[in-house]
Amino acid sequence: MAVTELLVAKEIMTRLSQKARQEVAFNLHKQDCQTCGRPIGDQAPALAVDDCGPFLSATLNHQGCRPSGWYGRGSGTAGVHLSWTSQFFTLPVGVGSGRSSRAMFVVCPHLEAVLLDQDGGDGWSVNTERYWRARGFRPAGRELNVDKWVAEQAPPRARLAGSTIYIDAGLDGPWSSSADLDTIKACHAQGGLLLGISTVCEPTSMADLDDILRYADAGHIFLGWVPLV
Ligand SMILES: [Zn+2]
Repeated sequence: MAVTELLVAKEIMTRLSQKARQEVAFNLHKQDCQTCGRPIGDQAPALAVDDCGPFLSATLNHQGCRPSGWYGRGSGTAGVHLSWTSQFFTLPVGVGSGRSSRAMFVVCPHLEAVLLDQDGGDGWSVNTERYWRARGFRPAGRELNVDKWVAEQAPPRARLAGSTIYIDAGLDGPWSSSADLDTIKACHAQGGLLLGISTVCEPTSMADLDDILRYADAGHIFLGWVPLV
């Protein structure tokens, strides 16, 4: 779940637009404090913004560990306490006799942190889409090919071991998840899986598959076909 309660320092209110602050809250999920690594628990998380020059890192912390504020370069903890969550399942594709299934792995790669840059042309904004687009991922719709990897660079590495999939996407991996027999079969039959990455959709908080697909339809999940190695 995106954070619903957030302690935000005055300086952040002045330096980030309301739109950017809302977007940040939408892309952050309350789990562990990014300073001490322990669960944030029942208290409202405090938003810290680390100014790293061309980008900002927005993180959730206990207010007592790192009070909400705008921090200069080099004062952050650089992601050692970040959490990720995933779901691995079977996705029906097509209609009627053309119907088949794809194994689909959806991951939220960093729950308690998100990066912003100014490359969207409208001040600071969350850069998840720009980051993953540059790595060959696309939102659901016309741009997406669900059957093969289309980008020039190498795809993330996906490996099945028993009923567990391991995915190494470089900086943000490896991720792993176990799956039911149908999903493993679909993964073997198609020789790969559809990898979906999102910082808005936290997959373990979704009630069901339809919930996840609603996020995909809304353009909040960036997808790519990844072959098994
Ligand atoms: Zn803490």
